[in-house]
Amino acid sequence: MTEFFNQVSRRKFLLTAGASASVVFLKGCLGNPPEAGGSGGAQAQGNNSAATPVANIPPEQAPETTKISLGYIPIVEAAPLIIALEKGFFREFGMTEVNLAKQASWGSARDNIEIGSAGGGIDGGQWQMPMPHLISEGLITKGNAKIPMYVLCQLNTQGNGIAIAGKHQGKGLELDLKAKNGKTVFDQLKGTSTPFTAAFTFAKVNQEFWIRYWLAAGGINPDKEVKLIPVPAAQTVANMKTGTMDAFSTGDPWPYRIVKDKIGFLAMLTGQMWAYHPEEYFAIKGEWVDKHPKATKALLKGIMKAQQWLDDFANRDEASTILAGRNYFNLPAEILKNPFQGKYEMGDGRTIDDKALAAYYWKDGTKGTSTSYPYKSHDLWFITESVRWGFLPKDYLADGAKKAKELIDRVNKENIWKEAATELKVAAADIPTTTSRGVEEFFDGKKFDPENPEAYLNSLQIKSA
Ligand code: CA
Repeated sequence: MTEFFNQVSRRKFLLTAGASASVVFLKGCLGNPPEAGGSGGAQAQGNNSAATPVANIPPEQAPETTKISLGYIPIVEAAPLIIALEKGFFREFGMTEVNLAKQASWGSARDNIEIGSAGGGIDGGQWQMPMPHLISEGLITKGNAKIPMYVLCQLNTQGNGIAIAGKHQGKGLELDLKAKNGKTVFDQLKGTSTPFTAAFTFAKVNQEFWIRYWLAAGGINPDKEVKLIPVPAAQTVANMKTGTMDAFSTGDPWPYRIVKDKIGFLAMLTGQMWAYHPEEYFAIKGEWVDKHPKATKALLKGIMKAQQWLDDFANRDEASTILAGRNYFNLPAEILKNPFQGKYEMGDGRTIDDKALAAYYWKDGTKGTSTSYPYKSHDLWFITESVRWGFLPKDYLADGAKKAKELIDRVNKENIWKEAATELKVAAADIPTTTSRGVEEFFDGKKFDPENPEAYLNSLQIKSA
């Protein structure tokens, strides 16, 4: 427990920070046009107003409640939630009182799920993986309380990167660290008082996995040759400016801001490391879902519509403008527009112009597999990678990964995704018939076969386990 987070004072700070961010957001929303804000009440509901009647909901699909509070972090992963609210897709399915609460950090999102909306916290929202599993297991909660969470869909793929401080330009810190002797940078700093310092936004989840995978594939042991620290995304630009951080991993717009602000460059995009990798997820407290199965499906249908809308590249400039708004990311829309089209200036002369490397929400770009579907094979990769680095004990993978699979079955509710997709009349071809996306391949040639996670672990030279 202590290794995850510890002092009561820090927890208090996170709670306060989370609450004040939410208040700022609520205030901002009052500035919406009257037709969007309805009576102008204090709810942050965008085009979701309860004042507008909702038509054409079949009585058997009418939600048990119209209200939920969902947390989000201002990165492109949150786009389906924000678009579903702003384009009225939540409202279309009867969820007229969705409150989106901006979270100051992943730590405050975790704290706010513990509190729940009744206490001023949240019922669910956007999560890095495997946060819902760790919360369900009581591994990152106060007093190790087990709070069952249900994973309902994946929010996005790609749209993340690893940014490097400008002082390391031209030293081979690219996708393949072995190609241009990038390892020299780490070797030179290893014995000094300032080892190479890399940051992620929350320990033992996605962003830490991306940075660890990249380093280890380049022959660098992240536990021995690098200092790894958690830093909230919003602080990363400042930390890199002051020189206290050599690298960090998070979602757009933060890596790209580093480039735009001329503070550093992008080593690579996560989509280059693992094409159409699982990124962040939508999950709600199990208790809420069990009590409101129809409202859960209504939310999912709203998110699915938003994901389909977002994958139409003709909508992406509008999406950039909505997300960049002061209620949400509060930055110039220009920073989002190019990356949303797969165009990146890497900041060291390299450029990328490849739609296959943009963020996707509904389908995996050129591959055509489902982005939205919560494949259990991806949950298993996150659990396997957790075992690789000693974040979870090896017994999760013993006996054919029995313990991992039991946990995944408790948390992953792919059946609810299927029911919602059927109600939305999604084409049969877009509803996966198996819970495995199959064998996954990484840029360094390593393969993860969900049928044999041990073989993947055995193939990796650098690991803690
Ligand atoms: Ca992310």
